[in-house]
Amino acid sequence: MDETTKCVHVPGVSTDGFASLTVPAYRASTVVYDTAEAFRRRGENFFDGYAYGLYGTPTTKMLEAQLAGLDNATRAVLVPSGLAAITLVNLAFLKPGDEVLIPDTAYAPVREVCRELLAPLGIGTRFYDPLVGADIADLFSPATRLVWVESPGSLTMEVQDVPAITAAARSRGIVTAADNTWATSLLFKPLDHGVDIAMQAASKYIVGHSDVLMGVLCARDEAVYRRLKLHAKFLGYGVSPEDCALTIRSLATLPIRLRQSERSAALVMKWLASQPEVASILHPSVPTHPGHRIWQRDFAGGSGVFSVVFKPCPPLGLDAALDALRLFKIGASWGGAHSLVAPVDPRSVRTARPWLHEGALVRFSIGLEEPDDLIADLERAFLVLRACVPMSTTGQAAE
Ligand SMILES: *Cc1c(COP(=O)(O)O)cnc(C)c1O
Repeated sequence: MDETTKCVHVPGVSTDGFASLTVPAYRASTVVYDTAEAFRRRGENFFDGYAYGLYGTPTTKMLEAQLAGLDNATRAVLVPSGLAAITLVNLAFLKPGDEVLIPDTAYAPVREVCRELLAPLGIGTRFYDPLVGADIADLFSPATRLVWVESPGSLTMEVQDVPAITAAARSRGIVTAADNTWATSLLFKPLDHGVDIAMQAASKYIVGHSDVLMGVLCARDEAVYRRLKLHAKFLGYGVSPEDCALTIRSLATLPIRLRQSERSAALVMKWLASQPEVASILHPSVPTHPGHRIWQRDFAGGSGVFSVVFKPCPPLGLDAALDALRLFKIGASWGGAHSLVAPVDPRSVRTARPWLHEGALVRFSIGLEEPDDLIADLERAFLVLRACVPMSTTGQAAE
């Protein structure tokens, strides 16, 4: 054999006697077959088995099986991001003339998808009050084909009555999908509450280290799964086996990361609640939260993401306070080891249920640092806030 050929063909080595606890990243574009006939019939392997690297390798299938199991699903489809997962569901289940119902509190980039991608295809969107519950039935029209839920809602943490909404949709043959990124499969199982498709931005808690983007869709119904998987193929969606191997590694620590972030968040929220500049804390574990009862009924716990409504104060004061933080980083996304803050304004992304609070909103994601250190960091920021703001303990900032 010529050396050129030797450079191309890796000698087979025995894997006998090798056992490891790790999951290898099986990379592939091409998949090869033992016979010409097997190659000709490769299309039969599309849903189960291996046909082409884009459609899955053993690494991607291992992660899919693991995530499906955690969601009490039978099937999972991995896609390149959470947003890709949302768009895939919309394109797979909606056609021209159809309409999708989306909670007003949905992940904000979805609005742009509806306006710029779905509307030109003749697909209508209606945003609904997330607190509508069983009355969602009054919103259904003959064109309604898909209903999304996202609970708690992005930025403002409204808890939805998911079982009531899915029951109403099911009785009309309408498909339901849940963005379950906040809770993860460990704290809420959408399929157990009547949802057809459970979606998560794995980029957040599942990956957990702010270094991989991935989305996942889980289903029990084989026809629903096949529709999603086929449309993922049409769109050319694939995920990197390396990213899957990293995510499998992260999953091992998901339960303890979530528990720690919930515990630390409780301590940070307690401290924040005692600050005179804070008007309210939006997290469903807070007993006065309007969604507390439903959250207790449906969820196994809370994650470390919450929002804080500040009493009205000059915006520059709040910016200076956020800029003074050292441990907390300023950034979108969440669910990683590092604690994050993000100043957000829900007013611009609410059309069905106006956001009436005057004060600023800051979303917190509590990571894995020692909570005392996080509170010390916040103390520094609040000193800056106090220096900027003429004392505003009565709820109105002095002008
Ligand atoms: C981040 C996020 C997404 C989008 O996920 P990406 O992987 O960043 O595209 C969707 N929904 C929610 C609730 C999110 O927080």
